[in-house]
Amino acid sequence: AKTLRLILGDQLNHHHSWFNKKDNEVTYIIMEVMQEQQYVKHHIQKIIGFFMAMRNFAEELRNEGHQIIYFRLDDEDNQQNFKENLKNLIEKLSIEKFEYQLPDEYRLDQQIKEICENLEIETQVFDTEHFYTSREDVKDFFKGKKQYLMESFYRDMRKKHHLLVDNKLEPFGDKWNFDHENRKKYDGKYPLKAPLLFKKDVSDIVKLLDDLKVDYFGNIKPKEFPYPTSRKEALKVLKYFCDELLPSFGRYEDAMLKEHHTLFHSCLSFSLNLKMISPKEVVDQVIDTWQANKKEIDIAQVEGFVRQVIGWREYMRGIYWDQMPAFASKNYLDNKTKLPSWFWDGKVKMNCLKYAINNSLDHAYAHHIQRLMVIGNFALLIGANPNEVDAWYLGVYADAVEWVQITNTRGMSQFADGGLIGSKPYVASANYINKMSNYCSGCKYDKNLRHGDKACPFNSLYWNFYIKHEDKLKKNARIGMVYRLLEKMDKSEIDTIVNQGNHYLSNLNSL
Ligand code: FAD
Ligand code: SF4
Repeated sequence: AKTLRLILGDQLNHHHSWFNKKDNEVTYIIMEVMQEQQYVKHHIQKIIGFFMAMRNFAEELRNEGHQIIYFRLDDEDNQQNFKENLKNLIEKLSIEKFEYQLPDEYRLDQQIKEICENLEIETQVFDTEHFYTSREDVKDFFKGKKQYLMESFYRDMRKKHHLLVDNKLEPFGDKWNFDHENRKKYDGKYPLKAPLLFKKDVSDIVKLLDDLKVDYFGNIKPKEFPYPTSRKEALKVLKYFCDELLPSFGRYEDAMLKEHHTLFHSCLSFSLNLKMISPKEVVDQVIDTWQANKKEIDIAQVEGFVRQVIGWREYMRGIYWDQMPAFASKNYLDNKTKLPSWFWDGKVKMNCLKYAINNSLDHAYAHHIQRLMVIGNFALLIGANPNEVDAWYLGVYADAVEWVQITNTRGMSQFADGGLIGSKPYVASANYINKMSNYCSGCKYDKNLRHGDKACPFNSLYWNFYIKHEDKLKKNARIGMVYRLLEKMDKSEIDTIVNQGNHYLSNLNSL
């Protein structure tokens, strides 16, 4: 039967079994549509990264002999949404069967199901053949549990897939987790490497977006677009990571530095999330590199990385499918504060936030600890509305697709799920930021002060947060220590801190 197969922008999996065979009866459709530019305001580099990767993917498939229809955003017959475009094509090409791959986003999953229900032809859905796990695996694994402990899922994955375990399924290095060895400030012992950048000219797509008045934000150098946008380039990023960065990945995983925004991180999330490469090939290549270089690379570096990919990444996806759509409106702490304006222009004096926000605006990237312990930490301490926090994170990062963004943001970072993902809120005062970075030196604020003109806002906001949420947090055994410290504090000291915190809360735009 004449078949139409839909490929979404984050389904660029060259190894999918769909492509094993060339078939004149099958036409593939890939489309740039306004619908996807508008559900949230995106960073310009995110939009361009997706478009370039989609265009390259279409070109590669066409060169291999597949029949491809590609809608550019400015094509005349582009109706700018999936529904109309599909309807028109099915009619025009006399299509008898429609096929698609499981969308990873709830919104699109619903939409395409609905489109199928209204079609009069046969439809069929296929797996994306990308992840280690199915949508339901995490849900089944944690059936009946109140908290979803990532570590137990991760160990199960190691055993199930025989990764970094011996024949008796015991972990290499005699430990499942080397996290406590992986929390070093950058001390200069291992030299930093520049990230691998591609520097492509994307001026034509910038012009396209401007001509069509697409509403975007963030910065771009149109002649030096850095992202990998083909499988070939994604594989180069993977090789560069294995050769140059893996030897120090775990050690400095939580470190932050003014002078360097990627440190030893892989920068693979964009390539992975668009499925240009698979988690299995990433993990296999990392483990092979380690096995061939055990003298230079120790297990702690490799285990730390493997945990992120087979643990956190698969776990977050499973939580998403278990918890959506209710997850998207969770707000356990009832937070309502509006995000300050400098989230969009980077004009903030607090040094740590200045670097973390400007990294995000300049590169559509920030590494995990900047996202979690600087930006997310601040948003939670001010009681930011999780809807706004989600929209910002979903827009700003090139790797942001909802299944992995919302679970990290609303769940892990904002505690809006009340502790399903993290057993306590990820909040910290200046002490932590100073321990892990060099941001505090040269900052307008003093990391050691809790009140007074120069007091670091993180300090008063930190105590304010715990005081405000005492009823919900005091009973949490992992937080007991904080409340014991508060009980020992002088009443007048507490009042001064609270006043200081409230002063900052009323002046968020001028921090
Ligand atoms: P590396 O540090 O090199 O890690 C390797 C890979 O592990 C990543 O590419 C990623 O695929 C995976 N990984 C690491 N941590 C996580 C995690 N917590 N959850 C899922 N996968 C993980 N990641 C996204 O891909 N998209 C997002 O939109 C996103 N939003 C986030 C929002 C917040 C508030 C937080 C705290 C984290 C978010 N993350 C997100 C997770 C993580 O920060 C990024 O995956 C990582 O920074 C990407 O950079 P990298 O490829 O250099 O990662
Ligand atoms: Fe950030 Fe406070 Fe340190 Fe300044 S002093 S960099 S605001 S933690």
